[in-house]
Amino acid sequence: MKTANIPATNQQFPIGKIICLARNYAEHARELGNEIPTAPVLFMKPASSVISDGEAVQIPDYSQECHYEVELAVLIGKVARNVMAESALEYVAGYGVAIDMTLRDVQNQLKAKGLPWEIAKGFDTACPLSDFVPVGEVADPHNLNLKLAVNDEERQNGCSSDMINRIPQIIAHISSIFTLEPGDIILTGTPAGVGQVHAGDVMKAEIVSVGSLIIPVS
Ligand code: MG
Repeated sequence: MKTANIPATNQQFPIGKIICLARNYAEHARELGNEIPTAPVLFMKPASSVISDGEAVQIPDYSQECHYEVELAVLIGKVARNVMAESALEYVAGYGVAIDMTLRDVQNQLKAKGLPWEIAKGFDTACPLSDFVPVGEVADPHNLNLKLAVNDEERQNGCSSDMINRIPQIIAHISSIFTLEPGDIILTGTPAGVGQVHAGDVMKAEIVSVGSLIIPVS
């Protein structure tokens, strides 16, 4: 079973649902030619897609175009159902770094047909995930610098202040649909600059004062 770990407090949570936001940064929505959504666009990855720092992303053979998306990950620590935005941060245990690996060619074909995205977003190794820092160690989760480099060349450099839906509103919205449970994780969307990786590349994702990931591609 995959776990989400908070080393500073020795806490370990079996990972449950991984709920992801699409198009939560306006510039990224634009770079893919998508409309800015009026309500959060949600999809899920299975816990089986998680890999840890140093493990490799394996591009499935049904895709020719695998993209990285660096994202702030929010770890839920308490059961949350129908919570108000005002109290939503009380349900957060910690923050971490994730890469939402996406088979863009497969996703585009599915989108064109109106079909669900799971095989483009939830395949094995599609969710590199760092350890988490305790919620109290992050002064402002909406003022974090998110970066991703491929082979030491910077590709993404954004700020969580540019999120369209902020974390309290995201938790309030999601918890009105899905009960959130300890070990559930929310991926809060990616800033602009997404692009392709190939076998042999090495990604480095970093959120300053949260964590980092070094993930090879094979
Ligand atoms: Mg994403």
